[in-house]
Amino acid sequence: MRGASKPGVIVLRGLVALGAIILAWYFLDLPPLLVLAASIATFFYFLWWSPTTCGAENRTEGTFCRNNATGLLGTCHLRAHADQKLKLRYLARGQLTRRWFAELRRRILRDSRKAVAAAGASATALLAIIALVGVVAGGAVALSRPTAGRG
Ligand SMILES: [Zn+2]
Repeated sequence: MRGASKPGVIVLRGLVALGAIILAWYFLDLPPLLVLAASIATFFYFLWWSPTTCGAENRTEGTFCRNNATGLLGTCHLRAHADQKLKLRYLARGQLTRRWFAELRRRILRDSRKAVAAAGASATALLAIIALVGVVAGGAVALSRPTAGRG
């Protein structure tokens, strides 16, 4: 097996996917539901699968892990770093909220690939919200005009 694709290329792929979703929606008049599904999938790609750098704090204070990791929230294979993972369940519990965001910000500032993943995740989240509005609005339109067709 050849080595994995260059991380930058894979992150770029996510951004291209995002652009493709938007363009397809705009020009091909895709159903909003499809756009919603595609943007949610891309959102999770950025959060958990896009290649990034670990960025967890090393034992040596002030230094940070440069191992490969996956996604905005991911860390590398090292157990100690996995424990430092920005787990969503902390947020769900309402714990560590300020620390969680401070840590996330620190990692984004330290690693350009995490920054790209963060930008991609934000953009896709926004797109998902817009698509969701489209789904709701489209549903309302369909209800008020049941026989409407595009011809
Ligand atoms: Zn690490």
